[in-house]
Amino acid sequence: MNERGILIVVSGFSGAGKGTLMKRLLEKYEERYALSVSATTRQPREGECDGIEYFFKTKEEFEKMIAKEELIEYARYVENYYGTPRAYVEQMLEAGKDVILEIEIQGALKVKKAFPDTLLLFVVPPSAEELKHRLVGRGTESMEVIESRLKRAVEESDGMEQYDYLIVNDDLEICVEEMHQIICGEHHRSSRNMGFIQQMKEELKDLKGE
Ligand code: 5GP
Repeated sequence: MNERGILIVVSGFSGAGKGTLMKRLLEKYEERYALSVSATTRQPREGECDGIEYFFKTKEEFEKMIAKEELIEYARYVENYYGTPRAYVEQMLEAGKDVILEIEIQGALKVKKAFPDTLLLFVVPPSAEELKHRLVGRGTESMEVIESRLKRAVEESDGMEQYDYLIVNDDLEICVEEMHQIICGEHHRSSRNMGFIQQMKEELKDLKGE
């Protein structure tokens, strides 16, 4: 079956729990997945380290990366730039890992356009009320930023149907397993296994000719 990894985009409203979900998925199946680390111009939150959560860049540094085509995609989100460095993604796919990009919707649609076999997953909280509760509970952002993220969620909800699968993040462990199973299923899609199909056809013809 196919040996090249699948490019997977995971989006979801800010506060839907994508970060925790990704962390658990990678802990549980570390051999299978590679998580791309994005570049951003936003300030690090408390506890975030350069090169782990993000590569933190100045606006000038980020614009240089754009000019040198070092990013697969980039977008502006709540006054900052965010983008996906190209080199790591290509290396990991080649090495057979499924590469996960945790990015917002504008970036997701750009990636899908450039690489149509990208799998698009959208993580949602069980309800809108729960989303607000989680954003406030996180305690890392001002009320103003929380309001702008909720406003952004309204805009992003317009694009939900363009994703291949929705994943409801209620119970973390169940959610991790659902996501893993969806990705496993995706590896069996016939269009991703054209080499195998071709080989099977040829072998069957050879058998018939024997
Ligand atoms: P946060 O500031 O909460 O870490 O991220 C804000 C939003 O930017 C999230 O929706 C996150 O998924 C998205 N994001 C993170 N990295 C990238 C990226 O490389 N490209 C794009 N388009 N969005 C990103």
